[in-house]
Amino acid sequence: MGQSKPNILLIYTGGTIGMIKDAETGALRAFDFDNLLVKIPELKLLDCDIETISFSQPIDSSNMNPDYWIQIVEIIETNYQSFDGFVVLHGSDTMSYTASALSFMLEDLSKPVIFTGSQLPIGDLRTDAKENLITSIQVASLQKNNKPVIREVGLYFEYKLYRANRTTKINAEHFEAFSSPNYIDLAESGVHLKVNEESLRKPNLRRKLRVHKEMDDNIVLIKLFPGINENTIECMLNRSGLKGVILETYGAGNCTTEKWFIDVLKKAIKKGIHIINVTQCSGGSVIMGQYETSSHLKKIGVISGKDITTEAAICKLMYMLGLKIEDEKFKKIYETPLRGEMS
Ligand code: ASP
Repeated sequence: MGQSKPNILLIYTGGTIGMIKDAETGALRAFDFDNLLVKIPELKLLDCDIETISFSQPIDSSNMNPDYWIQIVEIIETNYQSFDGFVVLHGSDTMSYTASALSFMLEDLSKPVIFTGSQLPIGDLRTDAKENLITSIQVASLQKNNKPVIREVGLYFEYKLYRANRTTKINAEHFEAFSSPNYIDLAESGVHLKVNEESLRKPNLRRKLRVHKEMDDNIVLIKLFPGINENTIECMLNRSGLKGVILETYGAGNCTTEKWFIDVLKKAIKKGIHIINVTQCSGGSVIMGQYETSSHLKKIGVISGKDITTEAAICKLMYMLGLKIEDEKFKKIYETPLRGEMS
């Protein structure tokens, strides 16, 4: 790409950013991508070349699923050599899931893949879409010695660039819709765009991008609550074909010490089902063994999700099951940060 301007591929999947109000019902629905570019003539002023590609049927991100993740991954794979960076426009509702999934599916990524969207449609007077989109493109075009500065999957929203697999959507009303409670921001946009170099992933550039498309969805997410009973847990763990469980526990990874509960989990682990302990708290980490109410989990072989988000935990589980990692190695690998998703 020499000294020429960076070129960025803008991938539109759907979401509020490109939606309009239906004249009859007043409900927001996706409209076609060409209109999005017409709405932001400022894009032409950016110091980079932009090409666009769109889902043939843009979706509300509540309809997101692993097949769509593969579609995005394939767009990036096909265009990887021809572009310096990628910006993915995505609904905010499930953006943290998709962005986390891509961080696992794109191994040894050495170019920026920046997710963004907005709380208000691009045509709205008070929209947050323009700033989010323009700065995301700038972030994706940042270069030092002709090489991209960001070499990982990021999520840009309301003046902050986060490591995508550390984020969670925290607000359906505020423009500041995302948070990264357990990892510092990668960059902040004020008068200057300040990149926090220390926080960035530094991939081994000798390694080529490897793309993984097998995401195994034979998993369940169980959020504990006082009163959850044996029947409910049994039902979920006895679902046929189940391979993995994300168990959302209290505080630093704690749960009831009642015998029936531990016995059910033990039985599942014996059957080869992987159980991962993540905390319901938005910040902090699972520390199994810190309290009596978690030491039994450790004893029966529950895997620690440490300070991973639930979104990233789900995607990592699907990804690792897709890789068909042997049972003996599974725990150790899950507890190891693969893409900076845990400390
Ligand atoms: N429901 C929308 C979506 O996730 C919300 C948004 O874009 O912010 O697609």
